[in-house]
Amino acid sequence: TPGLYAQSVNKKQSMLYKDPNAKIEDRINDLISRMTLEEKIQQTNQLTYGKNANANNIQLSKNATSPEIGSLIYRSINPVFRNDIMRKAMNESRLGIPILMGFDVIHGYRTVYPIPLAQACSWNPQLVEEAAAVAAKESRLSGVDWTFSPMVDVARDPRWGRVSEGYGEDPYANAVFGVASVKGYQGKNLSDPYSIAACLKHYIGYSLSEGGRDYRYADVSAQTMWETFMPPYEAGIKAGVATVMSAFNDISGVPASANNYTLTEILKDRWKHDGFVVSDWGSIENLIPQGFAKDKKEATLKSFTAGVEMDMVDNLYVENLPQLVKEGKISEAQINEAVKRILRLKFRLGLFDKPYVEELPEKDRYYQPASMATASKLAEESMVLLKNNNQTLPLSKSIKQIALIGPMVKDSINLMGSWEGQGIASSVETLYAGFTKEFKGKATLNYAKGCAFDGDDESGFAAALAIAQKSDVVIICMGEKKGWSGENATRSTIALPAIQEKLVAELKKTGKPIILILSNGRPIELGRLDKSADAMLEIWQPGIAGGSPVAGLISGRLNPSGKLAITFPLTTGQIPTYYNMRESARPKLGGYQDIPTAPMYWFGHGLNYTNFTYGKVILSNASIKKDEKITASVEITNSGKMDGKETALWFIADPVASITRPVKELKFFEKQSLKAGETKTFKFEIDPMRDLSFPDANGMRHLEAGDFYLMINDQKVKFEIVD
Ligand code: BGC
Repeated sequence: TPGLYAQSVNKKQSMLYKDPNAKIEDRINDLISRMTLEEKIQQTNQLTYGKNANANNIQLSKNATSPEIGSLIYRSINPVFRNDIMRKAMNESRLGIPILMGFDVIHGYRTVYPIPLAQACSWNPQLVEEAAAVAAKESRLSGVDWTFSPMVDVARDPRWGRVSEGYGEDPYANAVFGVASVKGYQGKNLSDPYSIAACLKHYIGYSLSEGGRDYRYADVSAQTMWETFMPPYEAGIKAGVATVMSAFNDISGVPASANNYTLTEILKDRWKHDGFVVSDWGSIENLIPQGFAKDKKEATLKSFTAGVEMDMVDNLYVENLPQLVKEGKISEAQINEAVKRILRLKFRLGLFDKPYVEELPEKDRYYQPASMATASKLAEESMVLLKNNNQTLPLSKSIKQIALIGPMVKDSINLMGSWEGQGIASSVETLYAGFTKEFKGKATLNYAKGCAFDGDDESGFAAALAIAQKSDVVIICMGEKKGWSGENATRSTIALPAIQEKLVAELKKTGKPIILILSNGRPIELGRLDKSADAMLEIWQPGIAGGSPVAGLISGRLNPSGKLAITFPLTTGQIPTYYNMRESARPKLGGYQDIPTAPMYWFGHGLNYTNFTYGKVILSNASIKKDEKITASVEITNSGKMDGKETALWFIADPVASITRPVKELKFFEKQSLKAGETKTFKFEIDPMRDLSFPDANGMRHLEAGDFYLMINDQKVKFEIVD
């Protein structure tokens, strides 16, 4: 009856957990005290749904009558869909608990930005934060509360397709960009109207899967774990990331999704993370093929007790936790602890108080001018000029005929890269569109595709050669299709398919200057291409606004400022090539007989059209005690003719310690704009405990007295720590 209904609404409103002014922890405790065991377990469940799901046909829970599930993931979400589902949860569930809506917003939602690996090459954390903030706003306006990003798995093997999703091979860079993106997504406060919750992934060791083969075993020593893989996670936790995702891989015998040491001892007990851990897609059930659990029930027990609070799509928690509680293998107090963490995020996001989003038309949600400007700026700054013989670039004004050749010239979908969110191909500015705008009235563009990305069809070569002949310069736009990197996209060779290399070699025979524009999601093998190329510009997968920046960099309207955040090996067989390796016992040896030891391009490599001259590094003090600090400074002059941006990369080397140390490690970086002729001071304050200490195999940091080197550009300056 209406009377009864009104009464129950009033009763709900008087409940403490419904009171927006009450403290979050009090609201959580109040709510927990009202929930049945079954309702609690529902909160640990994340369901996915089919393409044609809607609020009426979606089955929100398998076992419970009440639609009180923890979270939904996947497929597109739009405001109407979200509100319909949410209304169901709020109105039809006994306690009115909102659902957390998750979606993989990795490098933009609709306004797609460059892939994360490219973003790192910009060395511009501010821009990365802005991009994540735009992604958060577009997502939130579309009904998303939670993204599974950033990925801060330090790259070790470019055959692994997922190097495209992280910030390269340096732990510090992953920490800085990971934090920037967490800040961008989460804003000042999770309850801000346009914030979404972030998720650090994939905890941990995933990028060391054997041979770069996805999902496999990772033999991570405790030392490597602490030195290489933990730092970006620790930084992200300190920055207040809302959640963490446990990885697929097995770490030295204990799978990451059932690892009590990493998930509980470190993440929650040591780092005091008060958010929750979600498994990766199916990673709880994966414990069975991994040989760590005999059946689904044991997989549930092992993951849950190790510290995975939410089950991504396996449905194992709802199926097995009730029985495990009944058997006394898991206590209700443990369930409460997990559920509290999940509810905490829902309260922090303000979902109980404002469960619905505005239903704005698409044009008010996406592609706002400021967002597009950020997309374009980030694309520009992430591109790396790898090679520029005889100042082939920027193009001379006297060039009137430009041959634009290759499968990437008119491509749109591949420029977005993998995990393109809700990006749509028709929104992508192609390279052709960028060039057309850039060279209008200045030069003629002659286009031929030449060949496809792969295969052996050379029938397009003749047309390509013909337009090359009549042009002053040949620009070849080539690289990888989007599906060649990203998840489950490991390649046994990082070379481009032979057909693309052959096209370049043929075009070289015309004797025209050859410029390669490379779009790829990982470092690629450039040796053979290098023989034909006068200039090479790495544009990565720049997202929807890459066309104009590429054309602007080629014409000289823009000055390249990206530097590699990942080393390009000379050949696939040279992998691994990360810069922060340890020295060989016989430094001149320890390479291969058939190729040089040095890679093609080291981490940090990147050319530009001006000239940055580094002054002498000055240290405020060359000998300090452990609790003192040193300020290092260097004056950098733009001694060329074009305005530009320079990133100073500051490295430290610890030549002798009680355990061996990498040859050098990045400790700080700074990017500044310098007008032609301008000089600016770049500073780095060395904090010994932060910058000169190293972790042991249990993550305890040690600072030892002795000599150190500070390295920047080609300078190496000695200083010491005294007891
Ligand atoms: C991937 C995660 C992703 C998840 C949800 C998994 O297969 O490893 O990175 O967030 O799917 O789509």
